[in-house]
Amino acid sequence: QSFEECGLKDFVLSNVKKSGYKTPTPVQKHAIPIVMAGRDLMACAQTGSGKTAAFLVPIINDLLDKPTDLVINDCGVEPQVVILSPTRELALQIGQEARKFAHQSILKVTVVYGGTSVMHQADMLMRGCHILVATPGRLNDFVNRGRISFGSVRYVVLDEADRMLDMGFQPEMEKMFNNPSMPPTGSRRTLLFSATFPAEIQRMAGKYLIDYLFLTI
Ligand code: AMP
Repeated sequence: QSFEECGLKDFVLSNVKKSGYKTPTPVQKHAIPIVMAGRDLMACAQTGSGKTAAFLVPIINDLLDKPTDLVINDCGVEPQVVILSPTRELALQIGQEARKFAHQSILKVTVVYGGTSVMHQADMLMRGCHILVATPGRLNDFVNRGRISFGSVRYVVLDEADRMLDMGFQPEMEKMFNNPSMPPTGSRRTLLFSATFPAEIQRMAGKYLIDYLFLTI
């Protein structure tokens, strides 16, 4: 299956091609139609498999279907997509790819991560964003400061979920899902990417994903 056969909008297809992607990798071939069909997904994906585009392309395609205004209110910014990444480096990479696929659209992408001052990131955040890429600790920090809430969330993505567990981020992930403003499973889509599937990942998938497909390549 080619990118053309996935049924993507011409706009997104053109940005995918401009990024130098000619044919989808296996994980993209399978994940893109699943996400476009509106299903939750747990996918086995190693670094280098093309997993980033596997979730970004169909999500951006969907957001552009019914573009929504940026929401900033008393609870802070309300992103439509929250992507959790274990590290700052991966978060920045995901942000870069998201900006390529959303190039020349109204979609705004913001990246927040720990280990650096919150001031600059807070300024960026308060300009609003559709797609938020975050490391788990910094995400909760901003939630606690009243700068981010989840009332407009349509997609949650856990990237490299097993690494986030290894790094001790489980409480932060659970806090995000259990936040009162987070739409329940069924009212949002949840996508979990992981290289391995220890019992704890399967437990989280059972709790935070609904009626999900399991993709292993
Ligand atoms: P990832 O596994 O998402 O970190 O992607 C690994 C690398 O492969 C990144 O540099 C991507 O830009 C690149 N890549 C992902 N999908 C494709 C594709 N379909 N064609 C060419 N390059 C790709």
